[in-house]
Amino acid sequence: MTGEQVFVSHAPSDLELVQELFSTVKNFPFGVHIVLEEVGSGRSRKRLEGRLANSDIVVAVLTNRSAGSRWINQEIGYALAKGIPVLPLYETEDLRGGFVNDVEGVKIDRENPSFTIFNLLCRLRGELAPLGAMSVPNWYIRFPCTIPDCGHPVTLDITQGQTKLWKLHQHGQQLTATCDICGSKYYFDPATIGFRGREDGIQRSE
Ligand SMILES: [Zn+2]
Repeated sequence: MTGEQVFVSHAPSDLELVQELFSTVKNFPFGVHIVLEEVGSGRSRKRLEGRLANSDIVVAVLTNRSAGSRWINQEIGYALAKGIPVLPLYETEDLRGGFVNDVEGVKIDRENPSFTIFNLLCRLRGELAPLGAMSVPNWYIRFPCTIPDCGHPVTLDITQGQTKLWKLHQHGQQLTATCDICGSKYYFDPATIGFRGREDGIQRSE
């Protein structure tokens, strides 16, 4: 899992929803391309064709607002024709239709974004499994330590399977990563891998 490309096809009016759902997905070491972030206003979405052709998975965000979007339907068709898997993210099952009618996707639960993000991560983790890996590939995020003058890369290794992560979340537990240099500890929600807080280290290096 490194360097894979995720293309997110969505309607302009769903940009905010997409940004919420993908905020932590973007911390993983693969490229996340959210269409409306990459197409400036007034510029053609067609120029993303190369991006689409080189993606490892296309996430199609299907909502009541996007149902009539020709772009999404065409991006789905283009991906499938190129043999790229499409993961539908839908508000209601009937929005899938067409080629992705029978494709298992992720239901968007607006009342419970944590659960939606968790399910999205489950599917991405399965789809982006490196060849020959275990059924539950290890997953990680890496970020620079936020202590001023440290900035050392900190890695959160996610060795637990998704079922276990959900249990930890339900029990209010957190995942932790520690900076090797300054000893600061970072806390994350096990379900969404969202950042929860930092505890400053005591062995600050000079
Ligand atoms: Zn540090």
